[in-house]
Formats: sequence, structure tokens, C-alpha cells
Amino acid sequence: MDLSRFPRRRYTLSPTPLEFMPNFTRALGGPQVWIKRDDMLGLAPGGNKTRKLEFLVADALAQGADTLVTCGAPQSNHCRITLAAAVREGLKCRFVIEERVPGSFQRDASGNHFLFRLMGVEAITVVPAGTNMREAMQRVADEVTAAGRKPYIIPGGGSNALGGLGYVACAQELQQQFFEQGVRIDRVVVGSGSSGTHGGLLAGFLGNRIDMPIVGIGVSRDPADQDPLVHQEAQAVADLLGLDMKVPREAVLSFGEYWRPKYSVPNAAMVEAVQMLARTEAILLDPVYTGKVMAGLIGLSRQGYFRRDENVLFLHTGGAPALHVYEAQLLGEAPVVG
Ligand SMILES: *Cc1c(COP(=O)(O)O)cnc(C)c1O
Repeated sequence: MDLSRFPRRRYTLSPTPLEFMPNFTRALGGPQVWIKRDDMLGLAPGGNKTRKLEFLVADALAQGADTLVTCGAPQSNHCRITLAAAVREGLKCRFVIEERVPGSFQRDASGNHFLFRLMGVEAITVVPAGTNMREAMQRVADEVTAAGRKPYIIPGGGSNALGGLGYVACAQELQQQFFEQGVRIDRVVVGSGSSGTHGGLLAGFLGNRIDMPIVGIGVSRDPADQDPLVHQEAQAVADLLGLDMKVPREAVLSFGEYWRPKYSVPNAAMVEAVQMLARTEAILLDPVYTGKVMAGLIGLSRQGYFRRDENVLFLHTGGAPALHVYEAQLLGEAPVVG
């Protein structure tokens, strides 16, 4: 599959490492756990949104935009990385933040909120839970236009067909690494939220004939709600690539529950996962996404979902700045709900 016909900006110099985690594997008692370090992508610090933005920002520049407008929840990694890309390209950046938990957006909080201000976000509009984000972003874009400038709207999580190409590129990068490193992976575990990562990777695997099941762990929804989103995203990406393929519904698989009690709210299994990775491999997960996704991998392992000798790849999608928002809970010095 030829991605070179899509304009792309480059924010990461080389492939992110694909590594075995011997200490964590021993602590877990199997399966054999590998990690793809997409937390080491570029952009202050990078994460899965970096890959999507390579294509989205290239499109914005091709259209002559001078301002990126996007949206997210409080402590959004996507907003931070979009802002970082804007800074690199000499663009302005504005956010619409949806307060999914009322009162949760504090401008002067640490973590990503600190980074929003440090990197110089132009404006943040805070809206209540349930707001139509597409309309809210359009209103911000209209203000930018009224000021004689040119906005470009990036959907939440950067998850549209174009953004999904970032994870098609990741699929191709992985395929090359499997070959060069002589690694045989049986299954991939990935976080599933706005679904550009899960759906894009699935389209990339199907399009490149990489025959490897993807296990999604929902970070905000159970499978009944999540799987259709992922399927739709994978199909949209496949269509953009001109693959002339119907994405099989049974290729989409996810597990729910691990995100509870609520999106972004800590639970005990997440705390265990974050501590375990930090203390066995010195790898920093995050409390909102990768901590819960790793809790899913740990939970499924303990239920015997994987064979002990199976090679399972965990896709690390970034997010470490939010660790600082939950320091007390992560150290076991404050209660967690779940
Ligand atoms: C956004 C995000 C995810 C979820 O990825 P989607 O493509 O939105 O499904 C996972 N991990 C981290 C750290 C994120 O910031």
C-alpha cells in the first residue's frame, strides 16, 4: 500500500522501538509481553496523536490554514500534541474542552493544562458535557474566520479517515520491524477511544495482509458502543486508501469494563498496572488510557485469555503528562474509587 500519495509532515525521526519486556513478563507469569513505544513519538512529549497529525496538519497546510481548532476532554493529550504541532508549523491553536466531569477543567492544573499554557494556546473554550463538539468547534472556527484568518478543524482525537492513516503507517512500520528483528507476534493489545488508533491499525493490518488479531481495550465504552465506531473508522480509512474492501465485522474485537467507573477516573487495577510497569521496566504509563489498557492486558492474562508462551504486543500510546495530576492515587496515598 502506497501512503506516499498523501501529504505528510514528519514529527518523528525514526521508527519507535519494538522491545521485549522480560521483567514485566516474569512478574506477570506470561504471556511474553512486547511493547511498541509510541510514547516516544515526537511532539512535546508525543503519543499516538503524533502519527495522526502528520497527515492532518499536512492537509491543513495544503489548504493554507493558519489556525488549528480541535477539541478534547480536560487533560487532553490530543489537544497538547495538536498545539505542539501548531507551534512547530508556526500556526495558532485553539481548543474546545468538554467538561465530561463538571468542574474538572482547571486552567492552572498541572500535567497537560500546564503544557497548554507553556506552549501558548491561543484560546480555550470550555463547554458542558453533551455539547455538540462539531458545532462548538465550528463556532470557534467562525471567530477565527471573522478575524480574517483561516481555521482548520481537527476532530476529537484526530480520528477521521485522514488521521487514521497514521496508524496505517504504524502497521507498515511494525511489519518492517517484525521482519528485521525476527519477531513473531501473535496478538496486539491496543487502547480504543475515539478509535483512530484501533481502526487505523486494523485497516493497515488488513491492507498489508498482516494476519494478527487486534484486541482493543475500551477506555470509555463497552464493546456494544465501541466496536461499531472502530468498524466505521477502519472502513473509512480503507475507503480513503482505495482498498475496495469490506472490513469484516468480526475483525473488530474489544473488551469493556476496564475503563470504569468512568472515562479518565482512576481505578485500582489501573494503579496496579502503572506501578507494575514503572517498577519492572521503568516505563511510564498514564492514568487515563494506557494504565487502564495495561490493566486489561493483565486482567485477560490472569483469566487465561492468552497462552503462556504467546507473544503479545502492547501498543504504548503515550499520555505520561497526566501522571502528575494523580500523583497521590498512583502512590497509594489517596483513595481510588474503582
Ligand atoms: C487519545 C489516546 C488514546 C486513544 O486513542 P484513540 O485513537 O482516540 O482511540 C490512547 N492513549 C492515549 C495516551 C491517548 O492520548
